[in-house]
Amino acid sequence: MIISHYHTDHLYGAKAFKEKGTIIIAQKKVLISRDIVFGGRVPFLGSGNSKSWIECLDKILELEPEVLLLGHGEPLFGKKNIKRQVAWTKKYIQDIRSVVKKLYKEGLSLEEVHARANEEMPKIDTTYSQLPVFFDVNPVNAYHPHFEIEREVLFESKQFSSALPVSDVLVCGLVYSLGRS
Ligand SMILES: [Zn+2]
Repeated sequence: MIISHYHTDHLYGAKAFKEKGTIIIAQKKVLISRDIVFGGRVPFLGSGNSKSWIECLDKILELEPEVLLLGHGEPLFGKKNIKRQVAWTKKYIQDIRSVVKKLYKEGLSLEEVHARANEEMPKIDTTYSQLPVFFDVNPVNAYHPHFEIEREVLFESKQFSSALPVSDVLVCGLVYSLGRS
């Protein structure tokens, strides 16, 4: 079997995701998550939507795969190991979102949030700073969530009249449709 490597930029353009997205082989409970779940290094969020990414991880948890083929790291076997790694990926994304939100609410600019991300994340979890590529990738990961958080905060404060586009939460379409048949 040949498994191609795709980054989140490819996956999270909704159109590309439909064509190349996460695939689950239902009978064998093998899930090919590619760069949705990361093992052993900091996830790369790219231009992906962090909120819909979290929903996608929740969907993977619900599907309870027994084999998970990651975008990075060795394949994972066993529901327990898989759950742990999916939960870890989810925690990182939640943590970077909460850091960005905190700094945004303190009035920091995009550049300032970018510059502070490496200092703030290890305050939540000291193990982050020991991960490969943390100091390079983590500030980049603060970038797109900054725009998301800005939009969410403006929406919460009713400065925007409409909700987030529905497409933002539909990137896991293939996981839903192919999960359990
Ligand atoms: Zn990758």
